[in-house]
Amino acid sequence: IFIGLGSTVGDRLSYLQLAVDTIHYEVGSIWKLSSCYETPAMGFEGDPFLNACIEVRTSLSAELVLSKLLQIEERHGRKRFDDGQYHARTIDLDILFFDDEIIENELLSVPHPRLEQRLFVLHPMVDIAPDFVHPKLKKTTSKLAEDCMDDSLISKFEATLKNPLHTFDVSA
Ligand code: AMP
Repeated sequence: IFIGLGSTVGDRLSYLQLAVDTIHYEVGSIWKLSSCYETPAMGFEGDPFLNACIEVRTSLSAELVLSKLLQIEERHGRKRFDDGQYHARTIDLDILFFDDEIIENELLSVPHPRLEQRLFVLHPMVDIAPDFVHPKLKKTTSKLAEDCMDDSLISKFEATLKNPLHTFDVSA
């Protein structure tokens, strides 16, 4: 499965790394990690986002993965304001693709809706899975990125995420 990660407050890289580490232990092994990309906040006024994508191998169902991701988001705190709305987020996690499954129910839309309109999803996806075919649109992530009309200013972030598998590999 492919998971999109985003953070827009505080030490964004550390929040993304925390999410990666927790996903590794609670969802499945991290197979691939993209570079991080910085983009202006979309949909509300705020600090720029840091985004990345990971490929994870799991035996859990999509529903269980979603509930784990929501727990991770909650545990590491989203900022809820008095109006009940979420604004700036320490961690935002989305299931982008679950193999080549198409899931539409009250909890989940997979592939994640509108990902083809967002360079901050497509750039990191191209890093780790350029030939992966979107099961609904029948185009590779590279082709989706090429055709994408998103004109937001996206830039590669110099610092990178680390794979917990390697970090904690004592035999290395
Ligand atoms: P948001 O935090 O705005 O991304 O919304 C989270 C909610 O979106 C979750 O409670 C899910 O029920 C719903 N959702 C629908 N499809 C997805 C998906 N592919 N990945 C993550 N959340 C999803």
